[in-house]
Amino acid sequence: MKAEAPQTIYLKDYTPFGWHVESVHLTFRLAPNSTRVLSKIRFAPNPDAPAQDFFLHGEMLKLIGAKIDGATVTPDVTDEGLTVTVPSGAFLWEAEVEIDPKGNTALEGLYMSNGMYCTQCEAEGFRKITYYPDRPDVMSTFTVRIEGDEKVKLSNGNPQEAGEGFAEWHDPWPKPAYLFALVAGDLVNFPGAFTTMSGKQVELNIWVRPGDEDKCAFGMEALKKSMKWDEDVYGREYDLDIFNIVAVDDFNMGAMENKGLNVFNSSCVLASPETSTDANFERVEAIIAHEYFHNWTGNRITCRDWFQLCLKEGLTVFRDAQFTSDMRSEPVKRISDVIDLRGRQFPEDQGPLSHPVRPESFQEINNFYTATVYEKGAEVIGMLKRLVGDEAYARALDLYFDRHDGQACTIEDWLKVFEDATGRDLAQFKRWYSQAGTPRVSVSESFADGTYSLTFRQETPPTPGQPEKAPQVIPMAVGLLNPNGDEVLPTTLLEFNQSEQTFNFSGFAAKPVPSLLRGFSAPVVLDREAGRDEQAFLLAHDTDTFTRWDAGRQLARETLVDMVLTGATPDMAYIDGLEAVLRDETLDPAYRALMMGTPSQSELAQVLADRGHVPDPDAIWQAAETLAQVKAERWTDLLPRLAAEAEVTAPYSPDAEQSARRALGAAVLSLQTRLDGGAAAETQFGRADNMTLQLSALSNLIRAGRDDAALKAFHDQWQGDRLVMDKWFGLQIAATTPEKVVPRTEALTAHPAFDWKNPNRFRAVMGAMMMHHAGFHSVDGAGYRLLADWLIRLDDVNPQTTARMCSAFQTWRRYDAGRQEMIRAELERIRSKPKLSRDVDEMVSRILGA
Ligand SMILES: [Zn+2]
Repeated sequence: MKAEAPQTIYLKDYTPFGWHVESVHLTFRLAPNSTRVLSKIRFAPNPDAPAQDFFLHGEMLKLIGAKIDGATVTPDVTDEGLTVTVPSGAFLWEAEVEIDPKGNTALEGLYMSNGMYCTQCEAEGFRKITYYPDRPDVMSTFTVRIEGDEKVKLSNGNPQEAGEGFAEWHDPWPKPAYLFALVAGDLVNFPGAFTTMSGKQVELNIWVRPGDEDKCAFGMEALKKSMKWDEDVYGREYDLDIFNIVAVDDFNMGAMENKGLNVFNSSCVLASPETSTDANFERVEAIIAHEYFHNWTGNRITCRDWFQLCLKEGLTVFRDAQFTSDMRSEPVKRISDVIDLRGRQFPEDQGPLSHPVRPESFQEINNFYTATVYEKGAEVIGMLKRLVGDEAYARALDLYFDRHDGQACTIEDWLKVFEDATGRDLAQFKRWYSQAGTPRVSVSESFADGTYSLTFRQETPPTPGQPEKAPQVIPMAVGLLNPNGDEVLPTTLLEFNQSEQTFNFSGFAAKPVPSLLRGFSAPVVLDREAGRDEQAFLLAHDTDTFTRWDAGRQLARETLVDMVLTGATPDMAYIDGLEAVLRDETLDPAYRALMMGTPSQSELAQVLADRGHVPDPDAIWQAAETLAQVKAERWTDLLPRLAAEAEVTAPYSPDAEQSARRALGAAVLSLQTRLDGGAAAETQFGRADNMTLQLSALSNLIRAGRDDAALKAFHDQWQGDRLVMDKWFGLQIAATTPEKVVPRTEALTAHPAFDWKNPNRFRAVMGAMMMHHAGFHSVDGAGYRLLADWLIRLDDVNPQTTARMCSAFQTWRRYDAGRQEMIRAELERIRSKPKLSRDVDEMVSRILGA
């Protein structure tokens, strides 16, 4: 049995809703399986909209009764909503519906997690709460009354009356329904306070399950820093009397920016030194900032329709990256973001799921919360800022807030403020929003009579639905170095906007060495036929922290490619060049730790495929192992020096300085383990008083095959802590050798604590398997089969998480015919599942190219 073909929705078909919503009053009578939702909504005709039937979205709702202006009506109800005849003027709509929060495993709309009620409405979850025009361009004020025995009852806005068994909230700021939130349960709060720049007192709370209060202090500080930063840097002040954050265990995403009531996956807000790694702390800080920043970029100025998702997400990711750079290290943040972009967004952009930053059609919007919309969307903002300059960027943003506060906007509105603020024509720049795929830039150079010339060529390969591409505006930051290593041209921004373009630089006695794409000034692939000598030179001398790191990265990549293709031994020029950098104690330890990294195995597979080879996951694994082994053996005197430098004696703090040293220590330990078989890791495991050290030790013990006792000890210590147990589940797959990946994953799915309906736990296990390149792509197809089995099972329970995890298969066409055939068979098996969700159907069809 197969559902009807899902409907495709197009950007070009946008029409405004025929009515304005003047006010919304909701009453919730909470009961786990039969919550009643009473709505009173004032509608008035929208004179700017074309004539249309009165249609309200609604899914999984039991309509108890409906009235218009007090008179009972009988609407036409379908699975997707209702239609009813309405008066020609303004009117009051009233409805009572019954919903089943406890039975809601999809975690969209109102659902229950560990006995507490919570909501997730973005993108289209509000229609599972009551009948409503559930689209972001319909904005209204909300008044909410919650009735129930729960100790704590929260909604958006400011608290109003409360008493025995009820609480009322009013949000004075008009908002779309996707920002609605309700939370009720026996929660406790970690309180705080903030005084805004105009002197207004704001009450802050982080709400958690009893017992988690001791994991809130860091999140609270991060929230205050975010509020202050948005005032200092963007001039944006908070606009309610209270700001609440709630931690929820069962959550599909990281966190949600509901107005005044952010709901967080507990993994993204709870943190303590004993249970969280440095990386967890940094992530908590960044996500709290991200959701807080949405108050202006997303909530007060929202999206007209879901095609404009990047309007709020690209800008807010860009803002949270600025924040993290300011709080921590700018170069380390930039490099980490590029690693992430190349690891997640480039494969998406270069495969069957490729789509523009602003897609033009979708079947299920949940499938477009992607690295392209978020991370490439943020890169586009970064390029715009580089092109217009910091001062003009600030002016344009002020204009954006002035002009569009309270509105639901489009990318056209966004670009128009930049055009108006700067006088620039951004028509060509707009292609970054409409054209999918990663541009490839090739470079050639010449030198004559003291003039150095760089010629760039750009080409974007075809992507689904877009066979032809036009040239993009590529901000290309370059610098030039003398052969002796001195910089002779400081960073200069070239505006490269034609298919082929030459830039000349004169006045040189000798041919300079170019340092290209400084700061990763555009999300492109640079195909430079540069010799390794040049990369080694840049690794030693470049003044730009990004290009210097990237030179080392490219050397590592070329070395690994050689090793895979020819069985060559590692290039000593790379290893020695890297050693010189590692010995430079003036460089940030975190930067040196990043230098020690190599491209991911999946990235290498893509490089090989791009060059016309069929990547062999086992050969790639082996090359990476050999390279690490050679480094370890070569650096026997360097490693103890670095380990000593990485040692932290002060009490634990997750700050940038200490975490930089621990990052270096972890990189060193992974090489040391190759020499001592895990002895140093065992010592560290025994002594560790924080999760960062404990986990890096455990990871090396797993790698060394000395993990039985350590895994048991870790389990016994942490079995009561669900977030730490997610790490325990994931790490034993992530850190192991390829042949153990599938058997371990299978064994862990039989573990009594494998609660597969909890998205964090499911992702910890299945996500770790997917990410283990050689393990997942095991030649017998066992990894593919196991993942497909579980995706088929999860689809009935949680389509959104299932669909996202299908992306594990997106790179399937890279591999050999045997693996392709096995993956295709698994994708077909998923697609033929009875009652397949719309989310998964769309993803699998796109991946198959069907
Ligand atoms: Zn966001």
